[in-house]
Amino acid sequence: MKKFLKENYQLLIIWLIFITIAFTLYLTTNKIFYLLNFSYIGTALALGVGLYTHHVKYARNVCQFAIGLYMLVYLGIINNENMQIEGFWYYLFLGVFEAAVIHYLVAKILGPLFFGRGWCGYACWTGMVLDLLPYKNPKYPRKKHGYIRYIMFIISFLLVGALFLFKVGNLEKIMLYFFIIGNVLYYLVGVSLALILKDNRAFCKYICPITVFLKPASYFSVIRVKCDKEKCINCGKCQRNCPMNVDMTDNKRTRKNGTECILCMKCIEECPRKALHL
Ligand code: SF4
Ligand code: SF4
Ligand code: SF4
Repeated sequence: MKKFLKENYQLLIIWLIFITIAFTLYLTTNKIFYLLNFSYIGTALALGVGLYTHHVKYARNVCQFAIGLYMLVYLGIINNENMQIEGFWYYLFLGVFEAAVIHYLVAKILGPLFFGRGWCGYACWTGMVLDLLPYKNPKYPRKKHGYIRYIMFIISFLLVGALFLFKVGNLEKIMLYFFIIGNVLYYLVGVSLALILKDNRAFCKYICPITVFLKPASYFSVIRVKCDKEKCINCGKCQRNCPMNVDMTDNKRTRKNGTECILCMKCIEECPRKALHL
């Protein structure tokens, strides 16, 4: 038991964070939805990460689908809760502290202080599809197209802001259309970019506006890949296998592409000297 706790304490902390959020929101709002929602996500996440660290091959993909499909199909389409960035602006402008606002606070604004961009590696419904494509290791060096994410971020803000400014009616229905059309576009652009640039995660690197939230907090993430310099032989295998072009052999926070790490643990798995760890 002691050994289990020692090896899995980070997973237990992740699970406890979600369970605490689930109970806090349930007790403060009296809505059973929050209890079930955050317990489900936290359990799926902890199980997925736990099994994956114990070398169960497709555990991360199963975790992505378990959470991603739940949020895309059940919350997004069936329950009409827009969890895209437009949904965040929408609920924020409405002054409603629920749905997408809570989701963004937990997964994308405050949560990354602890678990970095775990959302991108284990839960995002765009990432879950991109990770099935053939270019897991980028074929070419990273391009300087990251500025596109800021343009997308501003467009999403202005788009939803304009709906409120011009007092457009039927906003709930419009947000559902935004959700469906936005996701179809994300998948089309994401898959096309991956195939053209031979890089599964090109969309995440250059286009996704959510990274504007994710990157600053993940800079300070408690959970991050670290390198034992005494074991490392500088073979470069870890970097060649990283889908996000991170220099994980550098332990500094300022390491190259440090805020891009999605905690997929591919580098840890590939290191012949077991020099990398969380
Ligand atoms: S960068 Fe964006 S699209 Fe990619 S996994 Fe993260 S949230 Fe999803
Ligand atoms: S794969 Fe391991 S040994 Fe090779 S450079 Fe990376 S950390 Fe060092
Ligand atoms: S391979 Fe390592 S450094 Fe790269 S994204 Fe995955 S966990 Fe992060």
